Amino acid sequence: MRAESGAIALPPGFIEEIARAGDQAEVLRIAAEWLPKIIGGERSSVSLPHGDDRLSIHAIGGDLVMQPGADLPIDGSLVGAAFRSQQVLVVGDLDGTDYVEAPVLRSGGLRSAIVAPMVSNGRSLGTLNLGNSQLGWFTAIDEQRISAIASLIASFMNVHELAERERTRAATDDLTGVMARQAVLDVVGAAFASDPKLPSLLFIDMDGFKTVNDTYGHQAGDQVLRLVARRMERLLGSSDALGRLGGDEFLVMIREDPQGDRAAAVAEAMVESCAMPIALGAVRIAPRLSIGIASAEDARSTAGQLLLDADQALYSAKRGGGGIARADAQIRSRAALVAVIDREIDAALERGLLDYHYQPIRCLATGDLLGAEALVRWNHPEYGAVPPQLLLERVEATGRVDRFTEWSLNRVAGDLAYARTMIASAGALTFSVNLSRPQLAWTGCATSFIGSCNAHGLETRDLIAEVVESSEIQTGDAAEATLRTLAGSGAAIALDDFGTGHNALGYFTRFPIHAIKFDRSLVRAMATDDKARRILTALASMSRDLGIVTLAEGVETQRERDLSAAAGIPHGQGWHFGHPSSLAGLITLARRELDASSGAGIAARLALPTLR
Ligand code: C2E
Ligand code: CA
Ligand code: CA
Repeated sequence: MRAESGAIALPPGFIEEIARAGDQAEVLRIAAEWLPKIIGGERSSVSLPHGDDRLSIHAIGGDLVMQPGADLPIDGSLVGAAFRSQQVLVVGDLDGTDYVEAPVLRSGGLRSAIVAPMVSNGRSLGTLNLGNSQLGWFTAIDEQRISAIASLIASFMNVHELAERERTRAATDDLTGVMARQAVLDVVGAAFASDPKLPSLLFIDMDGFKTVNDTYGHQAGDQVLRLVARRMERLLGSSDALGRLGGDEFLVMIREDPQGDRAAAVAEAMVESCAMPIALGAVRIAPRLSIGIASAEDARSTAGQLLLDADQALYSAKRGGGGIARADAQIRSRAALVAVIDREIDAALERGLLDYHYQPIRCLATGDLLGAEALVRWNHPEYGAVPPQLLLERVEATGRVDRFTEWSLNRVAGDLAYARTMIASAGALTFSVNLSRPQLAWTGCATSFIGSCNAHGLETRDLIAEVVESSEIQTGDAAEATLRTLAGSGAAIALDDFGTGHNALGYFTRFPIHAIKFDRSLVRAMATDDKARRILTALASMSRDLGIVTLAEGVETQRERDLSAAAGIPHGQGWHFGHPSSLAGLITLARRELDASSGAGIAARLALPTLR
């Protein structure tokens, strides 16, 4: 028997920690940590109501006896008895009881237990549970102590619950009346914490919403968002949640019933119900939704992981032309890679783990080396080669365009300057560097480009900027300003992937273009399609007239080379002419070719015209 002495004073450290807790979960975690220290049990846990007739085990201090998330009936369990009676219950010998959890506790080495209900305003919020390996361990003083702790915890739980409710109320989206971004994310987090298997997420995006806004005005766009939100809301149950993440993006959390797949059914109903035409003045538009679904398959998933899965599923739905897509293993592994990229990208940039490889650009007729395209490489020790386009997508999505672009331009300029010192007759060798639309739209882009060239003793025209034709580059926007500044400073601009976009012809006249790279799809089509041959011949001839240099991309075979040359395209790039290689590899190749030909190849240098 332990001595029973001392008044019921709780340690000030404990009270301070509890008072500092940010939410209910933290309150409970702190309680579970301190309980054994204050009362001298060995193992502690907290149980919370789950449904109408069960309690589930949550915060745990000490070694596990019951698994977190395990659940017990209120009827027949010790925790249930304390919960229901709102009395502290002490069990001096677990062997002598037939509570349902007694066998598990005994096999975990516990002999005695004490359970205190957390009661606030007459309502049981859960129980604090403590166990010990000795018979008859808990005394009347312990009963008073745990009772004091339980009521302290209960009042803090209450405070947090009220604050939480207030936050949620304040966190509605003004436009649509559904939850605002942070609110719905919080709800997802909380649902996940209470049972990771039950919530499924729908990541929803409206197809062509930008067009609605641009064509009919923002008020019309707002009206469509409001109606769509209402239509979606109608399909949800009381324990589901709907929030607007921003723009035309919505997030729905579905609480699954353990058998069914409600998420898929709700998604289908949403697509159907939202497609009913909406009248905007004289016109009617039928909103089309794309939805990505993710459900937790095992308890190891995290809320963030599930969100990423749903986002990636939406991305794949969009890429497939819209509709519904579910996160599958492929999407999951992409999502896992995305998470790794997002987490490690800063370190990779800082520690020089990103690299550039260079792919030769050659004269089609002579095979002479003219320059090389810089292609970013990240060889991750665990995940292998990170696809450059995915890397760029994450750079953009995570707001690192400025850092990446600074690094990229400085690195490629430095590599070219170095290559030129290493190759005796490399005076005219150029490097091409890709600049995505978000990179061009970064206001520091032109300065960084020009500055990098200056810093390494290059002329601006020694680096060629490869940009992708895009209907989104519009007169007057930041990307166009960058292009004009670059062209004005003497830099050359090449239109990349030509033939995959939409408004190619508009680009010729609106923007300062020095070179066009015909996409591999066009080059490949020439082998089988006479029309493709004629189109490329006409485009090459028109470009020549406009003083624009052309290049065939992705030339893999001698025949593709021949057809490209016959179409009147002077330059080529592709596996037929050389794979991308390290800078050292390119230098070796260039020395062999350029130095051996004593500069003859230089005569065929990439002759870029001055800007019209
Ligand atoms: P891109 O600009 O069209 O680059 C050419 C891509 O085609 C490269 O893929 C290259 O390895 C590949 N390729 C080269 N020859 C052949 C061939 O004969 N056949 C086929 N099938 N493919 C060939 P990579 O390196 O995976 O780059 C993919 C894309 O990522 C690039 O497409 C470019 O859009 C982007 N990218 C790469 N590096 C950068 C960068 O530093 N900045 C930016 N903004 N984008 C980059
Ligand atoms: Ca390119
Ligand atoms: Ca390309």
